[in-house]
Amino acid sequence: MFAVGDTVYVAQVHKESIPLPCQDCLGTKTWTVTTPAGDEFECDCLRCAGYGCTPPSKTMWRGEVTRLTVGSVRTDTAAVPGKEVSYMCRKTGVGSGTVYYEMDVFATRQAAQECADQRAAKHNEERRTAKAIRRETRLAQYNLRDLVSKKEKALRLDHQIRLQDVQSVVFPDEGAVMSSDEKIERIREIVEEIILTP
Ligand SMILES: [Zn+2]
Repeated sequence: MFAVGDTVYVAQVHKESIPLPCQDCLGTKTWTVTTPAGDEFECDCLRCAGYGCTPPSKTMWRGEVTRLTVGSVRTDTAAVPGKEVSYMCRKTGVGSGTVYYEMDVFATRQAAQECADQRAAKHNEERRTAKAIRRETRLAQYNLRDLVSKKEKALRLDHQIRLQDVQSVVFPDEGAVMSSDEKIERIREIVEEIILTP
Protein backbone atom coordinates (compact mmCIF):
# COMPACT_ATOMS: atom_id res chain seq x y z
CA MET A 1 0.00 0.00 0.00
CA PHE A 2 1.29 3.43 -0.96
CA ALA A 3 1.09 6.71 0.95
CA VAL A 4 0.29 10.27 -0.10
CA GLY A 5 3.34 11.73 -1.84
CA ASP A 6 4.67 8.37 -3.13
CA THR A 7 5.66 8.07 -6.78
CA VAL A 8 3.76 5.20 -8.41
CA TYR A 9 3.57 3.56 -11.83
CA VAL A 10 0.11 2.73 -13.13
CA ALA A 11 -0.42 -0.16 -15.53
CA GLN A 12 -3.01 0.56 -18.21
CA VAL A 13 -3.99 -0.73 -21.62
CA HIS A 14 -5.25 1.18 -24.60
CA LYS A 15 -6.57 0.26 -28.02
CA GLU A 16 -4.46 1.20 -30.99
CA SER A 17 -5.34 1.19 -34.66
CA ILE A 18 -2.36 -0.09 -36.64
CA PRO A 19 -2.48 0.76 -40.34
CA LEU A 20 -1.94 -2.13 -42.74
CA PRO A 21 -0.21 -1.57 -46.08
CA CYS A 22 -2.60 -0.05 -48.63
CA GLN A 23 -3.62 -2.67 -51.23
CA ASP A 24 -3.75 -0.07 -54.01
CA CYS A 25 -0.28 1.50 -53.72
CA LEU A 26 1.35 -1.25 -51.56
CA GLY A 27 2.43 1.44 -49.11
CA THR A 28 4.26 3.68 -51.61
CA LYS A 29 1.43 6.30 -51.47
CA THR A 30 2.01 6.94 -55.16
CA TRP A 31 0.29 5.80 -58.34
CA THR A 32 1.90 5.77 -61.75
CA VAL A 33 -0.81 6.75 -64.20
CA THR A 34 -0.78 6.27 -67.95
CA THR A 35 -3.21 8.39 -69.95
CA PRO A 36 -4.97 7.02 -73.07
CA ALA A 37 -2.58 9.24 -75.08
CA GLY A 38 0.34 7.36 -73.58
CA ASP A 39 1.60 10.07 -71.18
CA GLU A 40 2.84 8.70 -67.89
CA PHE A 41 2.90 10.62 -64.62
CA GLU A 42 2.80 10.05 -60.86
CA CYS A 43 0.08 11.17 -58.47
CA ASP A 44 -0.89 10.60 -54.84
CA CYS A 45 -2.61 7.28 -54.07
CA LEU A 46 -6.33 8.16 -53.97
CA ARG A 47 -7.02 5.73 -51.13
CA CYS A 48 -4.16 6.99 -48.95
CA ALA A 49 -4.99 10.62 -49.73
CA GLY A 50 -8.44 9.91 -48.24
CA TYR A 51 -10.71 10.41 -51.25
CA GLY A 52 -13.69 8.69 -49.72
CA CYS A 53 -11.99 5.49 -48.60
CA THR A 54 -9.59 4.63 -45.82
CA PRO A 55 -6.65 2.25 -45.87
CA PRO A 56 -7.19 -0.99 -43.94
CA SER A 57 -6.07 -1.20 -40.32
CA LYS A 58 -6.18 -3.63 -37.42
CA THR A 59 -6.93 -2.94 -33.78
CA MET A 60 -4.42 -4.01 -31.13
CA TRP A 61 -4.27 -3.55 -27.38
CA ARG A 62 -1.03 -2.14 -26.02
CA GLY A 63 0.30 -1.89 -22.47
CA GLU A 64 1.04 1.59 -21.19
CA VAL A 65 2.63 2.93 -17.98
CA THR A 66 1.94 6.32 -16.41
CA ARG A 67 4.11 7.77 -13.64
CA LEU A 68 2.03 9.56 -11.01
CA THR A 69 2.20 10.88 -7.46
CA VAL A 70 -0.34 9.64 -4.93
CA GLY A 71 -2.67 12.43 -3.77
CA SER A 72 -5.14 10.48 -1.67
CA VAL A 73 -5.66 6.93 -0.43
CA ARG A 74 -8.98 5.20 0.21
CA THR A 75 -9.62 1.80 1.76
CA ASP A 76 -12.82 -0.20 1.24
CA THR A 77 -12.75 -3.53 3.08
CA ALA A 78 -15.93 -4.69 1.26
CA ALA A 79 -14.43 -4.28 -2.22
CA VAL A 80 -13.43 -7.18 -4.50
CA PRO A 81 -9.82 -8.42 -4.15
CA GLY A 82 -7.36 -6.00 -5.72
CA LYS A 83 -9.75 -3.07 -5.34
CA GLU A 84 -9.76 -2.72 -1.52
CA VAL A 85 -7.24 0.12 -1.75
CA SER A 86 -7.64 2.87 -4.31
CA TYR A 87 -5.71 6.03 -5.09
CA MET A 88 -6.33 9.37 -6.66
CA CYS A 89 -3.27 11.14 -7.97
CA ARG A 90 -2.11 14.73 -8.14
CA LYS A 91 -1.70 14.97 -11.89
CA THR A 92 -5.10 13.46 -12.72
CA GLY A 93 -6.79 15.28 -9.85
CA VAL A 94 -7.54 14.43 -6.25
CA GLY A 95 -11.34 14.27 -6.02
CA SER A 96 -11.58 14.16 -9.82
CA GLY A 97 -13.07 10.67 -9.85
CA THR A 98 -10.10 9.20 -11.71
CA VAL A 99 -9.35 6.28 -9.43
CA TYR A 100 -6.48 3.80 -9.61
CA TYR A 101 -6.84 0.47 -7.84
CA GLU A 102 -4.08 -1.26 -5.90
CA MET A 103 -3.95 -4.08 -8.50
CA ASP A 104 -2.90 -1.55 -11.20
CA VAL A 105 -0.40 0.47 -9.14
CA PHE A 106 3.29 -0.49 -8.82
CA ALA A 107 6.47 0.80 -7.20
CA THR A 108 8.60 0.35 -10.33
CA ARG A 109 8.05 1.13 -14.00
CA GLN A 110 9.21 -2.38 -14.94
CA ALA A 111 6.63 -4.14 -12.77
CA ALA A 112 3.86 -1.89 -14.12
CA GLN A 113 4.98 -2.51 -17.71
CA GLU A 114 4.96 -6.28 -17.20
CA CYS A 115 1.43 -6.14 -15.80
CA ALA A 116 0.22 -3.84 -18.60
CA ASP A 117 1.81 -6.02 -21.30
CA GLN A 118 0.25 -9.17 -19.84
CA ARG A 119 -3.16 -7.55 -19.78
CA ALA A 120 -2.78 -6.29 -23.35
CA ALA A 121 -1.71 -9.77 -24.50
CA LYS A 122 -4.81 -11.23 -22.80
CA HIS A 123 -7.09 -8.69 -24.54
CA ASN A 124 -5.44 -9.41 -27.90
CA GLU A 125 -5.84 -13.15 -27.35
CA GLU A 126 -9.53 -12.70 -26.47
CA ARG A 127 -9.96 -10.60 -29.59
CA ARG A 128 -8.31 -13.28 -31.74
CA THR A 129 -10.46 -16.00 -30.16
CA ALA A 130 -13.67 -14.01 -30.68
CA LYS A 131 -12.68 -13.45 -34.31
CA ALA A 132 -11.93 -17.17 -34.81
CA ILE A 133 -15.29 -18.10 -33.25
CA ARG A 134 -17.12 -15.68 -35.57
CA ARG A 135 -15.29 -17.20 -38.56
CA GLU A 136 -16.08 -20.77 -37.48
CA THR A 137 -19.73 -19.89 -36.86
CA ARG A 138 -20.07 -18.39 -40.33
CA LEU A 139 -18.46 -21.49 -41.85
CA ALA A 140 -20.75 -23.81 -39.86
CA GLN A 141 -23.82 -21.84 -40.96
CA TYR A 142 -22.72 -22.08 -44.56
CA ASN A 143 -22.06 -25.84 -44.27
CA LEU A 144 -25.43 -26.38 -42.62
CA ARG A 145 -27.26 -24.48 -45.35
CA ASP A 146 -25.37 -26.53 -47.92
CA LEU A 147 -26.30 -29.75 -46.13
CA VAL A 148 -29.98 -28.81 -45.89
CA SER A 149 -30.13 -27.96 -49.57
CA LYS A 150 -28.40 -31.25 -50.47
CA LYS A 151 -30.85 -33.19 -48.30
CA GLU A 152 -33.80 -31.40 -49.87
CA LYS A 153 -32.50 -32.27 -53.32
CA ALA A 154 -32.00 -35.93 -52.33
CA LEU A 155 -35.50 -36.07 -50.86
CA ARG A 156 -37.02 -34.54 -54.00
CA LEU A 157 -35.16 -37.09 -56.11
CA ASP A 158 -36.35 -39.91 -53.84
CA HIS A 159 -39.98 -38.78 -54.11
CA GLN A 160 -39.63 -38.60 -57.86
CA ILE A 161 -38.35 -42.18 -58.01
CA ARG A 162 -41.23 -43.38 -55.81
CA LEU A 163 -43.71 -41.51 -57.94
CA GLN A 164 -42.32 -43.36 -60.94
CA ASP A 165 -42.81 -46.60 -58.98
CA VAL A 166 -46.49 -45.74 -58.51
CA GLN A 167 -46.82 -44.89 -62.19
CA SER A 168 -45.22 -48.20 -63.17
CA VAL A 169 -47.82 -50.02 -61.07
CA VAL A 170 -50.77 -48.09 -62.48
CA PHE A 171 -49.45 -48.05 -66.03
CA PRO A 172 -47.35 -51.24 -66.21
CA ASP A 173 -45.00 -52.02 -69.06
CA GLU A 174 -46.36 -54.49 -71.51
CA GLY A 175 -46.10 -58.02 -70.24
CA ALA A 176 -46.22 -57.12 -66.56
CA VAL A 177 -49.53 -58.58 -65.54
CA MET A 178 -50.89 -57.51 -62.17
CA SER A 179 -54.36 -57.86 -60.79
CA SER A 180 -56.17 -54.77 -59.46
CA ASP A 181 -55.77 -56.05 -55.91
CA GLU A 182 -52.04 -56.51 -56.43
CA LYS A 183 -51.79 -53.01 -57.86
CA ILE A 184 -53.60 -51.52 -54.86
CA GLU A 185 -51.42 -53.52 -52.48
CA ARG A 186 -48.22 -52.35 -54.20
CA ILE A 187 -49.36 -48.69 -54.24
CA ARG A 188 -50.16 -48.94 -50.51
CA GLU A 189 -46.65 -50.27 -49.87
CA ILE A 190 -45.05 -47.42 -51.82
CA VAL A 191 -47.15 -44.76 -50.08
CA GLU A 192 -46.28 -46.27 -46.68
CA GLU A 193 -42.58 -46.18 -47.58
CA ILE A 194 -42.89 -42.49 -48.54
CA ILE A 195 -44.68 -41.69 -45.27
CA LEU A 196 -42.09 -43.57 -43.18
CA THR A 197 -39.13 -41.87 -44.89
CA PRO A 198 -37.71 -39.38 -42.39
ZN1 LIG B 1 -2.33 3.82 -50.97
